[in-house]
Amino acid sequence: MNLRRSGIGMTSKRTQLRMVERLRAAGIRDEAVLSAMLEVPRHLFVDEALASRAYEDVSLPIGFGQTISHPYTVARLCEIVHAERTLGRVLEVGTGCGYQAAVLSRLAKEVYSIERIAPLLSRARVHLREIQFRNIRVKHADGQHGLEKAAPFDAIVMTAATPQIPVALTDQLATGGRLVLPHGTDAQRLLVVTQTGRGLEQETLDEVNFVPMLAGVST
Ligand code: SAH
Repeated sequence: MNLRRSGIGMTSKRTQLRMVERLRAAGIRDEAVLSAMLEVPRHLFVDEALASRAYEDVSLPIGFGQTISHPYTVARLCEIVHAERTLGRVLEVGTGCGYQAAVLSRLAKEVYSIERIAPLLSRARVHLREIQFRNIRVKHADGQHGLEKAAPFDAIVMTAATPQIPVALTDQLATGGRLVLPHGTDAQRLLVVTQTGRGLEQETLDEVNFVPMLAGVST
């Protein structure tokens, strides 16, 4: 048995289940999201030295000044875009370590995820290979332009904050599709943009704290 993969002690299924129960207590209601959070071994997405802290309610460093989001934040973003629907194609901007993409992949047919920092993306590829989820594609690019060739998307999740709503992303929403993004710079709130078919509708939700969206790619 691969102990790192199956988890022991602080990375065991029991510890994972406790994290999910805390998410439920904190207000996450979508059962599909809670199951997805239980299915994805978060400890495989962080450095081995931090694996014992993977199921704590904290964001953790993943290198290059970036972080893996707090479990509640990951679940909340999933819940907002999932909205109890069956999702076809989903786009994530800001792959980081690949964890959010992995959780999204349990709620959608196909997930595309874009990251601007090449070495982070290489690590994410290793993590995603290890968990053997086959419906995730990652790409090294500036995610603000979206991914025209795979559009339209039922959901787009941005995991880096921006004061502007990237037009390329709203253009790539399917009818009924939802874009969620951390909106703002210092003070940020989640913004949900829905393509209703007659135009875009916006809704402002929770206060959040994400790393900033940056332009261009880094090698
Ligand atoms: N979803 C990630 C969270 C990563 S933090 C996880 O589960 O771990 C946000 C990520 O967005 C960082 O890795 C950062 O490099 C990336 N990012 C910032 N601006 C970007 C852009 N324009 N295009 C693609 N990725 C971007």
